[in-house]
Amino acid sequence: MSTPPPASAAAASREPAAPAPPTRAAKSGPQQALEKLGLVRDIDLALHVPLRYDDETRVVPIASLRDGATAQVEGVVTDCRVEFRSRRQLVVKIGDGSDDLVLRFLHFYPSHQKTLAVGHRVRVRGEVRAGLLGIEMVHPTFRAVDAGTPLPRTLTPVYPTSAQLPQAYLRKAVAGALPRADLAEHVPGDLLPAGTMPLRAALAVLHAPGPDDDLDAIEDRSHPAWQRLKFDELLAQQIAQLEAKRERERQRAPRFAARVGALRDALLAALPFGLTRAQQRVVAEIDADLAREQPMHRLLQGDVGSGKTVVAALAAGRAIEAGWQCALMAPTEILAEQHLRKLVGWLAPLGVGVAWLTGSRKGKARDRMLEQVASGEAMLVVGTHAVIEEQVRFARLGLAIIDEQHRFGVEQRLALRAKLVAQASSAHGGAALEPHTLMMSATPIPRTLAMTLFADLDVSTIDELPPGRMPIVTKLFADARRDEVIARIRDEIARGRQAYWVCPVIDDETEDGADSTGEGPGAGARAARPGARNAARGTASAAARELENVTRTHRRLSAALPGQPVGLLHGRMPAAEKAATMAAFAAGHVAVLVATTVVEVGVDVANASLMVIEHAERFGLSQLHQLRGRVGRGSVASVCVLLYGSPLSITAKARLKAMLETADGFEISRRDLEIRGPGEFLGARQSGAALLRFADLHADSELVEQARGAAETLLARDPAAAARHVARWLGDRAEYRKA
Ligand code: ADP
Ligand code: MG
Repeated sequence: MSTPPPASAAAASREPAAPAPPTRAAKSGPQQALEKLGLVRDIDLALHVPLRYDDETRVVPIASLRDGATAQVEGVVTDCRVEFRSRRQLVVKIGDGSDDLVLRFLHFYPSHQKTLAVGHRVRVRGEVRAGLLGIEMVHPTFRAVDAGTPLPRTLTPVYPTSAQLPQAYLRKAVAGALPRADLAEHVPGDLLPAGTMPLRAALAVLHAPGPDDDLDAIEDRSHPAWQRLKFDELLAQQIAQLEAKRERERQRAPRFAARVGALRDALLAALPFGLTRAQQRVVAEIDADLAREQPMHRLLQGDVGSGKTVVAALAAGRAIEAGWQCALMAPTEILAEQHLRKLVGWLAPLGVGVAWLTGSRKGKARDRMLEQVASGEAMLVVGTHAVIEEQVRFARLGLAIIDEQHRFGVEQRLALRAKLVAQASSAHGGAALEPHTLMMSATPIPRTLAMTLFADLDVSTIDELPPGRMPIVTKLFADARRDEVIARIRDEIARGRQAYWVCPVIDDETEDGADSTGEGPGAGARAARPGARNAARGTASAAARELENVTRTHRRLSAALPGQPVGLLHGRMPAAEKAATMAAFAAGHVAVLVATTVVEVGVDVANASLMVIEHAERFGLSQLHQLRGRVGRGSVASVCVLLYGSPLSITAKARLKAMLETADGFEISRRDLEIRGPGEFLGARQSGAALLRFADLHADSELVEQARGAAETLLARDPAAAARHVARWLGDRAEYRKA
């Protein structure tokens, strides 16, 4: 018999304890815990691969034990008593002829005493430590054995689990499910990468490696068994992607053909600048999509400041001149407002009605907007995700543009899709014309990631900045040198320039969040990603501290810059106040803007030439790059100062180093992926959906390519096998692939 190890040892997961369900289900606690981890079907359990292994294949003499080592010994109990030291504890002594060993249990049950009664032979495994009375093990695992009980011949798996799910229970569940699970081969041998194993054999090795298996290769995931698992996972994903793409190709969208002399031409003529060649190219790519009768599903990526907004406006112009409405969504009100100002400036003079929908717009004003959207009087609708709320009805929605799309969670993107489909069927009485979608992002998606997770997406890239931009100089300063930085701000103001000073969101999880896949129990996080929902746990006290921090900095800067207007911007201000502050800064009435990350995305004030980021070590890499991109938007030489407090974690160092070494968004993105891992990169924490459990897009890019080819072949050759393969791997998570 073995005992459940204490919760802390079992918990490879950081999932917080779930609140008790309102009505008690008939299921046992561990059974519920299994379901919470998504371990429902036999195949789910079969694919739940160990985090690591315990070696119980050998016992060593007690006399050979060394402090700090983990070992297994076997002996006969010579003493078993409950002692009261600082607290009640069970103290057991065993001997094997070579020496004695003390076992100490701070939590114990009557069953412990029964198994560990004097005279019983037990096999014990745990970490050795030097105690007061010689060497001991605290909370070892143990089981009763006879003198001849054979040792296991394979390593004992340790699975990712949660506090409610004892390792022993999970082991049994997996061992039971393995032979039952349907592991029939779906993939013909000629489509498998060379040197991989049959699936059943691969899982047998991973769940219980024998003495001949290459444990190093298993641990670093290069073993053929791992290759097979990763390949199958990637294959499922590629098939799902290809299917989503085909499904979309069957849908119909309105076609917007070029109309000479119409809105688009007028807009181009009215712009105060000419388009860069890269902008012209992506506009042409988008135009070609809009002229087709399949809905566009395109990602427009371009580094911060590359000029995506005007491309969006030109796409909107094409839709509107064809008589269709366009919706433009931004992740924050500040950004939505800025778009509104820009687009109204460009389009209103050309006679286009624009509506404005955000969460803070309520009452009569909102009703009027809703009416204009429903009647088609407003041809362009700008706002936050309020644009896709239930009550919003479009007369003829033809194009949806999502700015900074990576900032929207997977669930929000799914909601948008559902909304677009609903719009289509309600607006066209069953004819079901779907709107085109254009997503924009300054966080470029590395190629393998795009192929794996966004295969259903066409990508356009603006790879050139507008002419005349001065490179941004990035500097790293210890926090102690704040005064020098403030002097620098004074200089900039004296030259008529403006500055941002950004404070971090003080959140217990900020540091942890940025680092969690870079350090710590990385393998565990990768194998299970059970902490996925943690990110949503924003706390009120964190918000209060954030506010305190940003207001303190605001006070200090105001005092240090007498006579200079210093603005303050944070998430807790009423929307109108935020908008007013932002407008004052944009108009140059405010010299310095102290802000939280509300300015992170998209804010565009060309006269700002200095960006100071306080506690830069607490920001994620793409966030830092986004913030830096708020300056250097005009033709003035700009500086980004990264202030850091010590000490820096390894990943924080890596992030700051990347910021100093490169200003190229693609390179930043590549490094970010390297530092954080793809799950984090995509905001999987927000979505609650583990995107990839086994394959590592970075290390396994070759497998990605192979899976891609195999997916196409399998779909063509045996669609039923392809469908079975997707069901095996994705189950009900297949929907997430469409976001
Ligand atoms: P982002 O791609 O980061 O969203 P924006 O669309 O905000 O960038 O553009 C950054 C700035 O560059 C804006 O002020 C915009 O008006 C300006 N801009 C865009 N395209 C050009 C161009 N071809 N020539 C000059 N300025 C441009
Ligand atoms: Mg932008």
